[in-house]
Amino acid sequence: MPLPALKDFKRIVIKVGSSLLVDSAAGRVKRSWLVALAEDIAKLHGQGRDVLVVSSGSIALGRSRLKLPRGALKLEESQGAAAVGQIALARIWSEVLGQHGIEAGQILLTLNDTEERRRYLNARSTIGKLLDWRAVPVINENDTIATSEIRYGDNDRLAARVASMASADLLILLSDIDGLYDAPPTADNNAKLIPRVDAITAEIEAMAGAAGSELSRGGMRTKIEAAKIAVGAGAHMIIASGKIDHPLQAIAKGRRCTWFMTAANPVTSRKRWIAGTLEAKGTLTIDAGAVSALRAGKSLLPAGVIRIEGRFARGDAVVVRGPDGHEIGRGLVAYDADDAERIKGRSSGDILTILEIGGRAEMIHRDDLVIGPRPKT
Ligand code: GLU
Repeated sequence: MPLPALKDFKRIVIKVGSSLLVDSAAGRVKRSWLVALAEDIAKLHGQGRDVLVVSSGSIALGRSRLKLPRGALKLEESQGAAAVGQIALARIWSEVLGQHGIEAGQILLTLNDTEERRRYLNARSTIGKLLDWRAVPVINENDTIATSEIRYGDNDRLAARVASMASADLLILLSDIDGLYDAPPTADNNAKLIPRVDAITAEIEAMAGAAGSELSRGGMRTKIEAAKIAVGAGAHMIIASGKIDHPLQAIAKGRRCTWFMTAANPVTSRKRWIAGTLEAKGTLTIDAGAVSALRAGKSLLPAGVIRIEGRFARGDAVVVRGPDGHEIGRGLVAYDADDAERIKGRSSGDILTILEIGGRAEMIHRDDLVIGPRPKT
C-alpha cells in the first residue's frame, strides 16, 4: 500500500508543539511562522476538510511573559503561567485564522473530559457542532486547573485522544524533529529516519528516546503512545518537522516525515469500541416502529422507547432491545436512567417541558449506535 496523500483525509487534527510556537527569549508567539501555518490550515479547510488544532504553548508563553526564572516550575506556577499564556494563545489563533474568514473556537480539556463517559460525550458533541459550523476548534489541556493526577501533561497523547473522540482520520504532530529515527539523531550521525511504521512493535518502541527540547514535554515516547491511541482509533498519524514555514504544504509535497499507518478507519473502530469494549449499564426496550427506524440508519428518539432498565449515566453504553426482547444493538445513551424514564414514549418537543432543560432530541444519536445483524427468521 503506497503512502496516502493529505488530500485523502476528511478530518485532520494538527498538533503544534510549544517550541515551534513560542519565542521564549522574546516572550511572544512566533507570529510569521503561525501566519504561514494558518495559510496551510485555511487551504485544507477551503478544500472542505474539517481541521482541528491542538495547540501547546500556554505554559511556555505565560512563563516568558511573566519573566519567570529558568528551571522547573512548581505545579501552581505552571497553572498560573498557563492562565496568562492561554489568553494570548487563544487570541493569536483567533486572529490568524480570522484572516481567512475562519472562526476559531477554544476548547480546554482535562483528562476527565476525554476519559469519563458523560464528559466525553459533551466534549465530542461540542467539537462536532463547531465543525458543523465550519469553525476550527483550537484545543489545549486546561492547564490552569489540571493537577498532576488528572492531567495528560503532554499534548501528544491529548491530541491523539482528541483525534479519536472526533473520529478524525489523520493526526499530524508538528514537532521540532522530523520523524522517528532508528537511533537518537542528536547522538548518532548514522541515525536513519523511518518513513513508515505499519505496526508499533517492541523494536519501534525501543527507538523512542527521551524528551527533546527544554520547552516540549513530549519526547518521542509520548509520540509513540499517541500513535498507539490514534492507530487504534482508526486514524493515521504523522510526525513531521514544524521547524519550517508552511509545514503542512511541505508534507503534501512529500517532505520526509514518519507515517504511522492504521489498518482500520474511525467509524469501524468507534463502533467496535461501543459494541465490544464497553460494559453495558442498562437496557432500553423499543417499539417496532423504532426498530425499523434504527435499521434504516436513524437515531433512537425518546418516543420509540417503551421500557428502561438499569442504573446508567449519560454517556454510558446500553443495550437496545426490540419489543420481543431481541437485541437490536448497543449505543451511548444521551440521558441518565432517571431522565430517560421521564421522557420515554414522549416526543422530542416535550423534553424541555418535562426536564425543564433543553436536552438532546435523540435518546441515542445514530453516530453513537451500533446495530447488530438482523435475526434469522
Ligand atoms: N498543555 C501544555 C501547554 O500548553 C503543553 C504540553 C506539551 O508541551 O505537550 O503549555
